Amino acid sequence: MRDGFQAKKMVYDVIIIGAGAIGCALARQLSQTVNRVLVLEAGEDVSIGATRANSGIVHGGFASKNGSNKARFCLAGNRMFSSLSKELDFPYRQTGSVVLAFRDEDWEVLENLRQNGLANGVEGLSLLKEDALRSRVPRLAPEGILGALYCPESGIVSPYEYAIALMENAVSNGVELKLFHPVQSLQPYQDQILVQTPQQEFAAHFVVNAAGCGAAEVAAMAGPSPFSITPRKGQYILFRRGSGDGLNTVVFQPPGPMGKGVLVTPTTWSNLMIGPDAQEIEDANDVSTDPQSLASVVQRAKRSVCDFQLHDAIRLFSGVRPASNRGDFILEWSEHLPGLLHLAGIESPGLTASPALAQEAFRMLVQSGLSENANPDFTRHRRAPVHYQALAPAKEAAAAARLPEGNPERIVCRCEQVEEQAIKEALHHGIPLSSTDAVKRRTRAGMGICQGNFCLPRVKDLLVQETQCPESDILLPSRDKGEMKAQLDALRRLLHED
Ligand SMILES: Cc1cc2nc3c(=O)[nH]c(=O)nc-3n(C[C@H](O)[C@H](O)[C@H](O)COP(=O)(O)OP(=O)(O)OC[C@H]3O[C@@H](n4cnc5c(N)ncnc54)[C@H](O)[C@@H]3O)c2cc1C
Repeated sequence: MRDGFQAKKMVYDVIIIGAGAIGCALARQLSQTVNRVLVLEAGEDVSIGATRANSGIVHGGFASKNGSNKARFCLAGNRMFSSLSKELDFPYRQTGSVVLAFRDEDWEVLENLRQNGLANGVEGLSLLKEDALRSRVPRLAPEGILGALYCPESGIVSPYEYAIALMENAVSNGVELKLFHPVQSLQPYQDQILVQTPQQEFAAHFVVNAAGCGAAEVAAMAGPSPFSITPRKGQYILFRRGSGDGLNTVVFQPPGPMGKGVLVTPTTWSNLMIGPDAQEIEDANDVSTDPQSLASVVQRAKRSVCDFQLHDAIRLFSGVRPASNRGDFILEWSEHLPGLLHLAGIESPGLTASPALAQEAFRMLVQSGLSENANPDFTRHRRAPVHYQALAPAKEAAAAARLPEGNPERIVCRCEQVEEQAIKEALHHGIPLSSTDAVKRRTRAGMGICQGNFCLPRVKDLLVQETQCPESDILLPSRDKGEMKAQLDALRRLLHED
């Protein structure tokens, strides 16, 4: 089989392992060049690791320690989001952010953050006294807030829509993507690297390890891993669409010995979101939630904003940070396997930093011999299948939901008012889809109050029709709704809101 590599065209210039924000950003960066690029992703879709479940903040860059990779790439990445969102049509908004002061001692913490931010190159940072803060952010809790550090450069993004947009654009510009392809081994092969998955072997001149929580395992395929990754889980509560209205900025709490504190933020789709906490865990795939941890998240969030109601909560979820023993982003060549580049330990603010990290990785690859010749056919733009718009009255949506299949005005998801046409479009955007969750991340069908109760069978039918994927192969949501409802009930009891 190996001798047939060239003939079978399984030799690439670059193979990227992992299709999270980092892998997708690098794939898009490389698609601007003539290089042959393959992305191998273990999961059923892009953006299924840390990139799917996080706070979605485009950080301003004041919190990361001056001189660190985090500080450097966070600021550079932050400044790329506005133009990227226009090119790739994903939801992003520069909302600014505030870090609150609850006690007199917090002013010193905020001033240190301000100084650190200035040293990092962040512009517009200012300390606001209570009156100025409240006129800027009216939804804050009425008691116990003294003021804040304001950063105008922070923003919010839909993280999975961002990663999907990057990869769709990369694929349309010639990058190959293979889902369900977990990399199992790496070996030197002539002057290349042999990459093995259960289905197939591939070879490449360069391999980039962007495997998130799996990065140490991938590194260890080449020799003893030079770093370790400890998965650190953070839990969140998401509230119904509209609950984020009137909150016009991201609200952080002062960092303390127990970590960053929980944040309260609007999402790009006008939900309110609170979280995360931080728990070190053994299994990076453990995305469970529990009512006790979430009760603590609610109590802490209410110090910042207290006008939300638990009966508006529609989803409990958690994300897992790939925290490394280095405490900083790792961008380095393997000492054991020439051509293997690690982009590892990319915890927060990794989403923000991702486009800048991709540029840096490209620079490192070019310095080691990768061609930087431009792809003459590169297309910079990509369109999303859905866009934000106010919801129509429920009666109208219910009528549109009763229209027959194939009617261009038929609505599939009543809660988020997603049209059949948008789902069909999403299914033909270059990434093969095989799960109702993948459709949800692209179109919001199933993202609303009923969490897919109504639309799940309809989405499944469309998946079967449009992709010719056998019905038995369609993956249904991994999270059990009954269990989530039970947790929400337990949470309400714990907080005496039942
Ligand atoms: C709770 C939480 C909150 C956060 N908040 C923010 C924030 O507000 N702003 C911000 O900037 N950053 C934030 N982050 C950080 C950000 O989410 C991450 O830095 C970013 O998503 C990392 O992307 P990644 O591509 O490195 O990893 P991932 O998204 O985890 O992607 C890695 C991919 O590699 C795949 N993979 C693993 N092993 C293999 C293998 N052997 N073969 C093939 N594929 C493999 C996985 O399936 C996965 O899809 C947060 C993270 C968490 C968890």
